Amino acid sequence: MKDTQNNSVPDVIISGAGPVGLFLACELALAKCSVLILEKAADPQSPLKQIPFGMRGLSAPTIEAFYRRDLLQYLELHKKLKNPHQNAKQGAQRQVGHFAGIPFLEGDVDSSQWKYRLPSSTGTSILSEMQEVETVLTNRAQALGVDIRRGIAVTGFHQTKDEVTVHTADETFKCKWLVGCDGGRSVVRKLAGIEFAGTEPEFTGYTAKVDIADPEKLSPGRNVRPTGMYLQSQPGFIIIQDFDGGAFHGSEKPITAEHLQEVLRRVSETDVTITAVHTATTWTDRARQAVAYRNGRVFLAGDAAHIHAPLGGQGLNLGLGDAMNLGWKLAATIQGRAPEGLLDSYFAERYPIGVGVLDWSRAQVAIMNPDPAARALNAIFRDIMTTRDGATYFAGRVWGINTHYDLAGDHPLTGHSVPNFEFEEGTTIGELMRDGHAILLDFTATPSLKALTDKYGQQIRYVSSRAKDQLGLSALLIRPDGFIAWAADNDIDHHQLQNAIARWFV
Ligand SMILES: Cc1cc2nc3c(=O)[nH]c(=O)nc-3n(C[C@H](O)[C@H](O)[C@H](O)COP(=O)(O)OP(=O)(O)OC[C@H]3O[C@@H](n4cnc5c(N)ncnc54)[C@H](O)[C@@H]3O)c2cc1C
Repeated sequence: MKDTQNNSVPDVIISGAGPVGLFLACELALAKCSVLILEKAADPQSPLKQIPFGMRGLSAPTIEAFYRRDLLQYLELHKKLKNPHQNAKQGAQRQVGHFAGIPFLEGDVDSSQWKYRLPSSTGTSILSEMQEVETVLTNRAQALGVDIRRGIAVTGFHQTKDEVTVHTADETFKCKWLVGCDGGRSVVRKLAGIEFAGTEPEFTGYTAKVDIADPEKLSPGRNVRPTGMYLQSQPGFIIIQDFDGGAFHGSEKPITAEHLQEVLRRVSETDVTITAVHTATTWTDRARQAVAYRNGRVFLAGDAAHIHAPLGGQGLNLGLGDAMNLGWKLAATIQGRAPEGLLDSYFAERYPIGVGVLDWSRAQVAIMNPDPAARALNAIFRDIMTTRDGATYFAGRVWGINTHYDLAGDHPLTGHSVPNFEFEEGTTIGELMRDGHAILLDFTATPSLKALTDKYGQQIRYVSSRAKDQLGLSALLIRPDGFIAWAADNDIDHHQLQNAIARWFV
């Protein structure tokens, strides 16, 4: 077995070059940490990532994170959305999200209820292709000097107080920290002995590209039937939910045309004929979450830390949020500028967000079930979602606008993502966050505030400017991940601000 000890030891090894591993690598490299990614798959071009099921809905926290790191402009669908002529369905009747497949409409959402959301804010949801997200992140990671090695699976590790030795089939690598971003079946999580607690599935989901001899036998749109649901999004692209208790997914049998046809016939109650399967995958609503996101020098992020049904598409967003949260904290620790407890705040902040997403997916499954009680509940949800408050509630959750951390501080904005203040000269606060530093934003030009940040050097950037709409605020402390650590409306309590700074920076 080859030992790479003669190479320099990277600060961090990330197991898995999925979107979460790549984004975490970008965050660490932006903060000048050395990062090596080991990725099991030799080829980054997975066929499943290129078909329409590779589409992912990106919600507000992800869009904001990408905007703050100047990544958003590279997503093609984002560019199209900026051009209204290419966006066919505009206006009040436009479906802008769903819960358990029940749509809510743009015209029903009352965004005036989000007091701190500014018109200059980035979008609330966009679609992007999984492959595209990974390509954009790979390009950025490589530009920042991240070493990505493909076709190398992590098979084991051993940690001491000071370092981690990572094993693969042919080589060993040393690093200071290891992060498992290696998906739902994470080897790192298993080897770290971290329990993956949760609930077992109620259905097997299928996404497949098939040839159908008689597609007219299938009804258009989403069809709920006594044993499940089927949807033909485009000719030959089918999604099926078969309430079989997740039995097929667990069996690891190949997905043959015969099997898919049998399931589709049963669920659709037709005698439709599938003649060929081009690509097919299964998924379930199994919902599990790691009971700890850390064991010593080893962390988990993304699907390695939590899995749930893809309904409503939140998994990628949840994982990217983990990466944005962990990146700056781990970097500060590596560079010896982390106050006590900073790394522990990763779990404290992200675990409850994960709990919320898992429960959100469970709630959807509960009312998607074809049994009569679930159908009755489903009808009630349908009614609620056409009301203004109902649609606004669901939009706030689905778009991630309500995402916040329970941080110390009494201002209502504390723990929330910073509103995208637009300065009088046209720049936005999001654009000032590209270098990944914290910001003390001072609308009052108070010299003593600048003096407070001076001793933190580059860690905290002091910005004194007037914004077009200041939302009644006088100053804010914004963490590198864009979340507000402290805010004041009128009188600035220097002592409180000093405490807030000391909580996050050294
Ligand atoms: C059908 C479907 C639709 C979805 N739609 C959405 C959506 O609309 N919005 C949304 O937010 N989420 C959605 N999701 C969820 C989303 O795809 C996942 O949450 C996301 O891909 C997780 O990213 P990750 O980087 O944590 O893990 P993955 O994308 O699973 O990446 C893990 C990487 O680790 C590698 N790896 C595995 N084991 C090892 C090892 N031992 N050593 C080294 N490398 C290893 C893998 O090859 C892979 O590249 C959907 C999921 C499915 C199945």
